Amino acid sequence: MGLEEKLPAGILLSTVEALAGYMRKASIWPATFGLACCAIEMMAVGTPDYDIARFGMERFSATPRQADLMIVAGRVSQKMAPILRQVYDQMPGPKWVISMGVCASSGGMFNNYAIVQGVDHIVPVDIYLPGCPPRPEMLLNAIIQLHHKIETMPLGVNREAAARAAEQAALAATPTLQMKGLLA
Ligand code: SF4
Repeated sequence: MGLEEKLPAGILLSTVEALAGYMRKASIWPATFGLACCAIEMMAVGTPDYDIARFGMERFSATPRQADLMIVAGRVSQKMAPILRQVYDQMPGPKWVISMGVCASSGGMFNNYAIVQGVDHIVPVDIYLPGCPPRPEMLLNAIIQLHHKIETMPLGVNREAAARAAEQAALAATPTLQMKGLLA
């Protein structure tokens, strides 16, 4: 918990929220972490064609201690899951996760005992990116969505209120067991 968490509601909190959000979204460094074929598309965003440097994010950190974004690019095997969690735990907060591709998000076509059926069983995920593999443009779009999420992230009492609202919405939602089809 940082100093900003203790700020009371009011103009000061709004100012700190806006400032911290802007600074955070403009200073993200991804961890060097590729698991399978999706990682090739992730690497492509570093080329001049896609130019992730436009966001100041071309420096993929070789140590989790200097990274605040984990891009889970590829399927997560059961054997790799504890290592992935260890890397995540070693990243300083606040930190974010993009689940890149269907394998990372849900196991994809690997519906078997060797592959984790969704990396959100291991770490909290901020953005799910569909596709097999997602194109580099799609990863850039996910990064832009994440920037927006970070920039508008509430702090202090506002965060508590947002967490309470999210909890209420989750409690009021239809349980998966009672859903009939994807749109029910
Ligand atoms: S989603 Fe497709 S490209 Fe990505 S890791 Fe799975 S099989 Fe490979």
